[in-house]
Amino acid sequence: MSSDTTRVRFAPSPTGYLHIGGARTALYNFLYARHTGGQMLLRIEDTDRKRYRPDAQEQLMDNLRWLEISWDEGPDVGGLFAPYIQSERADWHRECAQKLVSIGKAYHCFCKVKRLQELHRSRKSYDGRCRELAPSATLQRAESGEEHVIRFRSPKNDSTTVHDSIRGEITVRNVQLDDFVLMKSDGFPVYHLAAMADDHAMGITHVIRGEEWLPSLPKHALIMRASGWTEPIWCH
Ligand code: GLU
Repeated sequence: MSSDTTRVRFAPSPTGYLHIGGARTALYNFLYARHTGGQMLLRIEDTDRKRYRPDAQEQLMDNLRWLEISWDEGPDVGGLFAPYIQSERADWHRECAQKLVSIGKAYHCFCKVKRLQELHRSRKSYDGRCRELAPSATLQRAESGEEHVIRFRSPKNDSTTVHDSIRGEITVRNVQLDDFVLMKSDGFPVYHLAAMADDHAMGITHVIRGEEWLPSLPKHALIMRASGWTEPIWCH
């Protein structure tokens, strides 16, 4: 694969039928890959185990085939960057989260669900209670099996600017970003981490997706930057 080969992906979550918005995203990625002589990947993002539907993956693939959208790498055809089922890449996601912890860009949080629910009820975002705990002590607590999540240490000053090839510069004030969860207490990554870790590992050059993902874009760019990865070209 030459470094200037376009690599795009359609990354549906198997939570139900392919909807028209998903079909449109798949079509754009497919057409862009074919237009540029690049590669189209199909990645199944099944880390949300609560909403997972076992029959959805086959249905999604059948629907795409019916639309005559094909892919060069995916769960059924394999490829150099297999596996293409996100839950099978959990070790990689854990490794990425741990690396962020080790360089101080993420931290273990031991706050109890009840406390977080209270914050949520009073419409407050996470208050960073575990943000300043000493890393040596938190590592020991986590390793001894105490229930925890891993949170991203969002910058608190200044702002974050991301360039979108369709919309131009998008800037958010960092105070608006909370310390969002990267790894859940069940050991599964949240979508934000898993998708970025996989986009990086799979050499994705362009992330083409619907505008409903714009609010997540600063988080995604921050994960990429904190991990030392090159950002793809964002197209929303
Ligand atoms: N798994 C996400 C979804 O269900 C994909 C979002 C993305 O393309 O980054 O739509």
